[in-house]
Amino acid sequence: MDARGPSPWPPTAGAAPELPQPRRPVEPPLVRFVTPPRTVRRVPRALVMALVVLLLGGAFALGARWYAAANAFGPAAGHEEARVPLGAPPVESSLDHGPHAFTALQADGTTPVAYDPCRPIHYVVRTAGAPDGADQLLTTAIDRVSAATGLQFVDDGTTTEAPSPKRHAYQPDRYGKRWAPVLVAWSDALETPALEGDVAGLGGSASVHRDGVDVYVTGSVTLDTDEVARLLATPNGQAIALGVVSHELGHLVGLDHVDDPAELMYPSTNLSVTSFAAGDREGLAVLGEGRCTPHL
Ligand SMILES: [Zn+2]
Repeated sequence: MDARGPSPWPPTAGAAPELPQPRRPVEPPLVRFVTPPRTVRRVPRALVMALVVLLLGGAFALGARWYAAANAFGPAAGHEEARVPLGAPPVESSLDHGPHAFTALQADGTTPVAYDPCRPIHYVVRTAGAPDGADQLLTTAIDRVSAATGLQFVDDGTTTEAPSPKRHAYQPDRYGKRWAPVLVAWSDALETPALEGDVAGLGGSASVHRDGVDVYVTGSVTLDTDEVARLLATPNGQAIALGVVSHELGHLVGLDHVDDPAELMYPSTNLSVTSFAAGDREGLAVLGEGRCTPHL
């Protein structure tokens, strides 16, 4: 915020995320295993052998097809998956209550779509054009989100990948056979038209449907270099810029905007709210309790 008034984050239409979500990868075809007939006593031996060969061949063909499909749309399942969540959000009784909203919900209509807490969230940063102090801003904001959710983040270093609303969730040539890490990029309205005007940042994640739940597998945070540099040059600018980055990371892990200016997830910057407030924290704690999905 500056003398001109609130600097809005991108407006949202209803619960729509600011960052268009990449299409969900198509699920591999369902594999059904054929049960061999139990009674074969009266069937000639040659026929039994022929059946066995047929069944084995069919199963192999189905398996090969599934394997090819899985490779085409995403990495092999269970990459870095631990048996239990890597961290935990603050216990519910220690949290105050406040308004919060989620970007996307599961089929039950109440449970939010979240990241898998049993594996780390890797991220890369396109540092080109980043303002001075950008590293510190990002690591402090990530620490905040990690503390509020229990989710664990891993810094994979820098990248040259450009932000794009059509970003692929799986980029084996660039990042290896795993879901692409979260991309944090410093950009401008020329490269990212959604940053036009006073928009300071964009954030969101892409989900995949598996085992009956939607799970975030990667996402993007795109920050407007000029806007953040302008904020940093104002009194209390460091805290406000930290609020901007934290807000976008809130979107990344699944928070949507709320209509209460006392919360950081209000759509506009606010001089007096530069860190997560009660409702934000309550929502973040829920987002830290997503389901572990070893088959993803
Ligand atoms: Zn926002």
